[in-house]
Amino acid sequence: MDELSRRYQAVCERVTQAALRAGRTPHSVHMLAVSKTFPADAVAAVAALGQRDFGENYVQEGVDKIAALKGVSGLVWHCIGPLQSNKTRQVAEHFDWVHSVDRLKIAQRLSEQRPAHLPPLQVCLQVNIDGGPTKAGVTPSEALALAQAVAVLPRLALRGLMTIPDPVEGFEAQVAVHMQAKRLFDGLQVTLGLPDFDTLSMGMSADLEAAVQAGSSMVRVGTAVFGGR
Ligand SMILES: *Cc1c(COP(=O)(O)O)cnc(C)c1O
Repeated sequence: MDELSRRYQAVCERVTQAALRAGRTPHSVHMLAVSKTFPADAVAAVAALGQRDFGENYVQEGVDKIAALKGVSGLVWHCIGPLQSNKTRQVAEHFDWVHSVDRLKIAQRLSEQRPAHLPPLQVCLQVNIDGGPTKAGVTPSEALALAQAVAVLPRLALRGLMTIPDPVEGFEAQVAVHMQAKRLFDGLQVTLGLPDFDTLSMGMSADLEAAVQAGSSMVRVGTAVFGGR
């Protein structure tokens, strides 16, 4: 088995084991392979192993890879990086998901620009769960109002939340941060009452076990799959 296959299988096994340890069914946790900075060839190699969901941070890089891999059927592309207004059209036209919506203006543009022949753009709101002042994302207390405003936009489907907490040492401390996101998510799920609000995007290479323990439904894994950037 080559290096990429070995790493990919190891990550899948980590996710499975984390789910089982948490008393969850492994299928309840999706794995998004974060391919930023890696070439289309590497994405194709991981797709050949059965992976379908890929995450990109930089819009132009993602759009180029989406075009290069048009021939690979069934790929699902997630935009997980910071979004500026001048990039929303490309995102709306090419991606399937966006995890990083953190203000209404961006959501409105994405909805207006989503082409009619495509299904609604699947959207998660980015929440700044651990409160760093310079970080992207709405505060937990702003999340409900943004969710309610996004939920009525016609060409978007509001699917859940994304968080990127600062790295902390130790499993218990990581779980504690992710649990804050889980509680917010659960509360919104009840208040919003939207059947498709089912996605809690949290956990990366270094903390996916803690995120799964806390209830993540989608981990975003870059270096553990593709190697160092
Ligand atoms: C790069 C990135 C990841 C993946 O991080 P790794 O530590 O390489 O697994 C996940 N989410 C976001 C938003 C990222 O930018």
